[in-house]
Amino acid sequence: MTHQDLLQVADEFGHPVYVYDAEKIISQYNRLQSAFKEVKDLRINYAVKALSNISVLRLFNKLGSGLDTVSLQEVKLGLEAGVDSSKIIYTPNGVSLEEIEEVAVLGVQINIDNLSILEQFGTKHPEVPVCIRINPHVMAGGNTNISVGHIDSKFGISIHQIPHTLRIVKNTGMNINGIHMHTGSDILDIDVFLYASEILFDTAKHFKDLEFLDFGSGFKVPYKEGDIETNIEELGEKLTKRFKDFCKAYGRDLTLAFEPGKFLVSEAGKFLVKVNVIKQTTSTVFAQVDSGFNHLIRPMFYGSRHEIHNISNPKGRERFYSVVGYICETDTFASNRKIEEIKEGDILAFSNAGAYSFSMASNYNSRFRPPEVLWYEGKAHLIRKRETFEDILRGQVALDFSTVTAENE
Ligand SMILES: *Cc1c(COP(=O)(O)O)cnc(C)c1O
Repeated sequence: MTHQDLLQVADEFGHPVYVYDAEKIISQYNRLQSAFKEVKDLRINYAVKALSNISVLRLFNKLGSGLDTVSLQEVKLGLEAGVDSSKIIYTPNGVSLEEIEEVAVLGVQINIDNLSILEQFGTKHPEVPVCIRINPHVMAGGNTNISVGHIDSKFGISIHQIPHTLRIVKNTGMNINGIHMHTGSDILDIDVFLYASEILFDTAKHFKDLEFLDFGSGFKVPYKEGDIETNIEELGEKLTKRFKDFCKAYGRDLTLAFEPGKFLVSEAGKFLVKVNVIKQTTSTVFAQVDSGFNHLIRPMFYGSRHEIHNISNPKGRERFYSVVGYICETDTFASNRKIEEIKEGDILAFSNAGAYSFSMASNYNSRFRPPEVLWYEGKAHLIRKRETFEDILRGQVALDFSTVTAENE
């Protein structure tokens, strides 16, 4: 998408607005597939929580992708999008037995990550095949906010509890058909990932009726030019070899599964905002935009760095700005950032706004959540309308307090 295309979207649908480039989503999907082309049975399950618009799910379905879901509602969204229940895996954390049962009835692959629920579910439904999520106690990323495989993590069944797990399986007569891990969010070092994979292989040996091994995700994407990213091609080559060796030793070909979110949609997304106010203080020039952490929380929540360009003045001289929002709260998107010279009314484009951006948006300050637009075959398609005041009121109940009187009346 060119700057001109983006400006046209902001013009047509207003701002702030999320725009996703379908072509980029498709090319990322194909890139992952081709990195693992030597695997007989590869399954990519797109992690719905990254970007859960139903049109995006329909696009993934069309590509042949499955879905990784973390709630009953995400499962229902996937089914609504036309994805077959056999291509959905449900990987919740700390949800009730009742919710898991409700999902199991829909024919979705269940993935359980604690022994208490494993035992309860296995006792009641020994006939339903279940995948287990292990915690290999390997930290793939550097940031503990987004690493979920380390020793104190709430995710997964510790590999030190495999003997206990096996006892539960034996006692309940349940069938474990998959082993899963998801070590966290930013894999930089492929050797660390491969090390964790060895632990998964070691665990898998104990289970005789497996159909798949799920290596989760955590592929790092570049946030700016020259940024390091997970070398998917190298990972593909090395893991494929180990996977094939494992299958040979196991005596059967298994499915190799991944469940990336960020890798597939992060770079496809741009978030367009308008600059309301340029405010020069004694130390800084603020560019205040018509958004805040109600629409894009990642910079404040994870400290993530989104490139920002002034698409209204792309050739402008670069100057230093602090880009902040309009929320009554500190909502700094970027401080002391070099951006093409900004005037009030200019449109800024945030990069990497495909994953965990709209899906984490809220109505804080009673603002509307922005529309979403999919750029597909050279055209802009609205895939979610901007909210309206009715959306803010929806579900609220206005009591009339007829018996309450103010004291000084
Ligand atoms: C969030 C999540 C993913 C996707 O992670 P990315 O970093 O977006 O690729 C995959 N699997 C599980 C279980 C998750 O919770």
